[in-house]
Amino acid sequence: MRPSILNPLFAELAELKGIGPRLNEHFERLSGKRNIDLLWHFPTAVVDRSWQPKISGLEAGRIATLKVTIDKHVKSPRKGLPYRVFCSDQTGKMALVFFHAQEKYLKGQLPVGEERLVSGKVEVYQKTFQMIHPDYIVKPEEADQLPTNEAIYPLTYGLTQRVVLKTVREVLKAIPDLPEWQDGPLLSRHMWPSWEQALFEAHTPVTPVDVDLGSPARRRLAYDELLANQLTLNLVRLANLKSKGRAIKPALEQRDKVLKTLDYSLTKDQWKVLSEIDRDMASGAAMLRLMQGDVGSGKTIVAFLAMVNACAAGAQAALLAPTEILCRQHYATLKDLAAAAGLTIGILTGRDKGKARAEKLEKLHSGETQILVGTHALFQEDVGYHDLGLVVVDEQHRFGVFQRLALARKGKTHPDMLVMTATPIPRTLALTVYGDMDVSRIEEKPPGRKPVTTRVIQGDKLGEVKRALALALQKGERAYWVCPLVEEGEVLKLTAAEMRYQHLKKDFGDRVGLVHGRMKGPEKDAVMEAFIKGDIQILVATTVIEVGIDVRQATIMIIENAERFGLAQLHQLRGRVGRGVRPSYCLLLAARKLSRTARRRLSIMRESEDGFLIAEEDLRLRGAGEFLGVRQSGLPEFRVADLEAHGDLLQIARDDARLILEKDPKLETPRGQSLRTLLYLFERDAAVNYLRSG
Ligand code: ADP
Ligand code: MG
Repeated sequence: MRPSILNPLFAELAELKGIGPRLNEHFERLSGKRNIDLLWHFPTAVVDRSWQPKISGLEAGRIATLKVTIDKHVKSPRKGLPYRVFCSDQTGKMALVFFHAQEKYLKGQLPVGEERLVSGKVEVYQKTFQMIHPDYIVKPEEADQLPTNEAIYPLTYGLTQRVVLKTVREVLKAIPDLPEWQDGPLLSRHMWPSWEQALFEAHTPVTPVDVDLGSPARRRLAYDELLANQLTLNLVRLANLKSKGRAIKPALEQRDKVLKTLDYSLTKDQWKVLSEIDRDMASGAAMLRLMQGDVGSGKTIVAFLAMVNACAAGAQAALLAPTEILCRQHYATLKDLAAAAGLTIGILTGRDKGKARAEKLEKLHSGETQILVGTHALFQEDVGYHDLGLVVVDEQHRFGVFQRLALARKGKTHPDMLVMTATPIPRTLALTVYGDMDVSRIEEKPPGRKPVTTRVIQGDKLGEVKRALALALQKGERAYWVCPLVEEGEVLKLTAAEMRYQHLKKDFGDRVGLVHGRMKGPEKDAVMEAFIKGDIQILVATTVIEVGIDVRQATIMIIENAERFGLAQLHQLRGRVGRGVRPSYCLLLAARKLSRTARRRLSIMRESEDGFLIAEEDLRLRGAGEFLGVRQSGLPEFRVADLEAHGDLLQIARDDARLILEKDPKLETPRGQSLRTLLYLFERDAAVNYLRSG
């Protein structure tokens, strides 16, 4: 349970005076509906209202704040012309100008004969200084309502700066006095303010430096969030270490049998990773290892040999994959390998229903099925294992840390966990997602891989592309033709892929097939199978093929509207070809007119096949938030930290988190207690629960 001291922060904005349902809706859209959400919504600029000239000293274009006496109101002479209020000081006259004015309201705001402080941008019109719709009009005795330096917030429709500013002020008043959770020396080394002070400073900037992501206040707040993130990951890791796994020895005999059936031998890197896995599995603690390797680097066989270890020791192994297609493919590849190792293998996906499903579950429960391949269906409540010893997760970025844990709980003892990813996540990001794991990398690709020749072609030169394709098909080659997903909200009768399919059919007839996300499972399987067999030579697809499909005979990848894809995605797609011995091509069809970023992306693709380099570039071009698309990626969404601006703090946070938990693994000391508050502040409640149960 979240400590009550945080309640004011998690209270809803709607409870504040003046926030009715309408405003509340706008705030919810802007930042969220709770006070804390608004506190994490920072100003991005600051307006300096400290310039207080007399009227004679005004300059057009500047923001001025000055005291004036109201002389007279002049109504709009006709529609379209403004209402004007003339005023003066000892040095001259000026006008306050209002369009669509309400006379009664303005008379109340600016009564003739009285003094007012006004603040706004000064302009000159017909040789007179004027201020159109002053930002502020206050009575001299209420001068304190007028900020000298005003924070400017990103807005959404229905909200004005003033309303946001006023609400932020209200919320700032409700900030509780929280015990410091950061280390004193760290704070003084960086000259960071306390949490409360940092929030206050971030929301009351004085100079542009204060709204910079690099300001001490913003860095402190970012560090808080990064530390919460790293503590969470480390708590998960510790729980994992503590949970006694079992010692599983490498199954050398069965391994040999499997290796003999392969038409290749493992690369040095594959052996290296396998020996790291062997070591983890043989130790008493549960394994939590990430196997990172570019597309086509051969992760599957390594994972399979780990499964052989588990099964030989009498346990079961589960392989979790993100899509149905990928599951089927894994199942198809592993079936033969399992047979060679003398193991039974099954598959469980969302497609299994009723009696067939019940039978599968029964076999799993009794231990008859030793290896199970599946989608999310593997987590389901009623899926019980006989003795789950190893969980392999493919393409982990689609699964979050806690989902992974849900599966881990299915074991009698904590199962070993091996996560595979082809996504070359840049180092900075890797720490935020995988900070809790040991990492193995397969860097070298299996031998004999030919580089993929990549060309960027104008999308309207379809004729040329088709001619080249026709030639290739004559030689028996196979091609993917990828079309972007139709954007949500666009109502088209046919999607881009369907239209392309129809179009290509005219030229290529039965040799063209189509797969897309909305097709029924068996339909998809049939098309994939035909493509693998070669009955279909051109496979038109949406990005369903992106993840992990392995058809060695495919040598051509055509990507339409390539400018709409991110770099990481393009790289993944291109990785579908260049798997066999024949030379491969990737044709990126792009619009004539391209944004600078799009052009840069395509030229990186042309120049490089290095997944890591591409990922780093992608991160640079897109920013961390968008990298991979945060939502589906399982990457944590940071509210305060910006990985580009604050990435340097991540390493510190990681070391800090480790040190903290080494000294105080259950966060019981006074500082530990404050750190718990920090975890709740950033809504890592699940991590705190972990403390309790672990
Ligand atoms: P990924 O790492 O992308 O999952 P896969 O495991 O699907 O890659 O392997 C890609 C292809 O490479 C598969 O067809 C696999 O049989 C083959 N392969 C794996 N290891 C080797 C190797 N050492 N030598 C040659 N081919 C290999
Ligand atoms: Mg794979």
